[in-house]
Amino acid sequence: MTIEDLLFFAKQHIHSDHAKILLAELLNCNPLELLNHLQEEVSEQQIELFQREVKALKENKPLQYVIGHINFYGNEFLIDERVLIPRFETEELVENTIKYINKYFTEPVDIIDLGCGSGIIGLTLEKKVSTKSVDLIDISSDALKVTKQNCEKLSSKANIIESDMFAKIDKKYDVIISNPPYIKTEEEIEDIVKNNEPHIALYAGVDGLDCYRKILREVKDYMKEKCIIAFEIGMTQAEDIKKIANQYLDNITIEVKKDLSEKDRMLFIFKNCE
Ligand code: GLN
Repeated sequence: MTIEDLLFFAKQHIHSDHAKILLAELLNCNPLELLNHLQEEVSEQQIELFQREVKALKENKPLQYVIGHINFYGNEFLIDERVLIPRFETEELVENTIKYINKYFTEPVDIIDLGCGSGIIGLTLEKKVSTKSVDLIDISSDALKVTKQNCEKLSSKANIIESDMFAKIDKKYDVIISNPPYIKTEEEIEDIVKNNEPHIALYAGVDGLDCYRKILREVKDYMKEKCIIAFEIGMTQAEDIKKIANQYLDNITIEVKKDLSEKDRMLFIFKNCE
């Protein structure tokens, strides 16, 4: 069998773009280079793997899980059903946080990533800014297995800690960052998300604010004198989260930022950042 045969087979079942992406993965090349490989013979093993992947896509599995890795802010991360699929908006959170860290800190920073999932946020920050320590926290031991693989893949020195937010933490940080679950229990979301991604990473109570409440209630004890808290948020949640923050923290400045779709998506809390 040749690549062309596989492409023909796949196109009968799945979108041709997806077919090309899977084949390019198989050949370890760019989808645009596939044309040069059409007559290449493939092994039995490759055929089996490819057929399994086509079947998974046909059964509405997300492409990212089928491929098993994703590029986030310039690095490849392994992902599977144990963790959330990284979103473009989270790259925007990371980008803005890098900007603020560089603006307000001259010394290496201590960072905690709460609800780290695959580890994309904390591990990207470790690569992009000067850090003293990076602590990756998640309540899900399954998710942390993926975090660990990504730490190894990226030769990271980050600490992985299984903890329900700050429960097992006894340290103060310069940067506290989180993209926690923020979907309301009853909120309608796409089937492909609902049926495949871990619900523990998606849902956060009737108003979707449970995790922000939990973090902000305790966060004071974990903030250094000067500190940035960076949250990804749901597009309707900014005002509520501001109120919760002001309830638990004094002398802070809050900034809400929109994502590229013009939706409120990030909320930054600054303490003594001048
Ligand atoms: N922090 C991780 C991410 O941004 C996981 C988020 C989550 O599981 N809600 O992908």
